[in-house]
Amino acid sequence: MATTGRSAAVSHVGKIRANNQDSGYAGQNLFLVADGMGGHAGGDVASAIALKRIVEADKPYASATDAEFALQSALLAANTMLAETVFDHPELTGMGTTVSSIIRVGDKAVLAHIGDSRIYLFRDGSLDQVTADHTFVQRLVDSGRITQEEAAVHPRRSVLMRVLGDVDSSPEIDTAILDTQPGDRWLLCSDGLSSYVSDDKIAAVLSTFSGAKDAANRLVRESLDQGAPDNVTVVVVDVGDNADSASNPPLTVGSAALPLTYEADSARRALRLPTLLLHPLKSTQHADSHFEPESEEYFDELILEDKRRAIRRRITWLVGIALIIAAIVVALVFAYRWTQMHYYVGANGETVAIYQGVQQNLGPISLHSVYQQTSIKMTDLNPYTRSTVEDTISADNLDDARAIIERLAASANG
Ligand code: CA
Repeated sequence: MATTGRSAAVSHVGKIRANNQDSGYAGQNLFLVADGMGGHAGGDVASAIALKRIVEADKPYASATDAEFALQSALLAANTMLAETVFDHPELTGMGTTVSSIIRVGDKAVLAHIGDSRIYLFRDGSLDQVTADHTFVQRLVDSGRITQEEAAVHPRRSVLMRVLGDVDSSPEIDTAILDTQPGDRWLLCSDGLSSYVSDDKIAAVLSTFSGAKDAANRLVRESLDQGAPDNVTVVVVDVGDNADSASNPPLTVGSAALPLTYEADSARRALRLPTLLLHPLKSTQHADSHFEPESEEYFDELILEDKRRAIRRRITWLVGIALIIAAIVVALVFAYRWTQMHYYVGANGETVAIYQGVQQNLGPISLHSVYQQTSIKMTDLNPYTRSTVEDTISADNLDDARAIIERLAASANG
């Protein structure tokens, strides 16, 4: 029977973001990753509030079903707390958070999950994602509209359909009770890891680093090596056997490890209340927020908007191509006109002629033509002059070409 083991939690702000909106927790029985979003001060607050509420469920349970009920209730209670916080602090409107969590009860892993953070099980060298992403693109994949490969690079890949927050009073939470055994390694992570580090790389790290803390640190390092555009949080849980009775003291990382600061902020913002009232609700939502309410109409609207965007992209592309073709045509016309400003003297069969253009051809296009035929016969020229004419004599302009003809005519007569 699997009981205790080692665990580790690591969180990093990443290389681009100004603050860490992720929170992570590795406790006695409960493990959790939360990725907050929305509002300028909202994301970090949301994940921290959710974490602090949900870790109250970190205790031993008599059965997996008890734990499942407790964990689901804790997530719903966190959702209520977020809504209440927004009610008291309207400047936080639009904040939300993902939660991916596990409670271990004997040889069972009890999961509760909402959003696009992930839980993986690494067992016998293979890595399996056991949670589904509650994202817009995953719904497109599920409904057969796009492939998993297209989803990975889709412009809306971070848009979430389900989170904890202030929009839905009873959000749909995925729960599951799975078997677990000694040697299992559970990985909980925010999309700051899974969006930038491949499953193969994650599996390689999990098989290489035997210590939970080493593995977690290494995974964060992998994301940093990829540029870490997002906050990255990793919780690794190793399932041991009875002999391995050492478990870590509870560890909180990320935003939840810092004091909540929105109380002080809101007092200051209260001075700007009239401004807030003039721009209600939406004004506090960030453009880069990936928090979106779930509704079928909204889902359809997103699909329509993507179609419109695709059409706009195609039009932009066609106009671009047309402009490039026009530019090439104009350049060719100018180049041709430039060649036709040149003259040279050469042989045209048995006689000497003035040519307009340049000697070279451009593929099948001739860049020269006889401008003026003369009566000077090639056979009237001395051998040296004849070979010079055969090689052609370039002229600075038409007058120069005519002067060359006059000299040739004189030498022919002479
Ligand atoms: Ca994230």
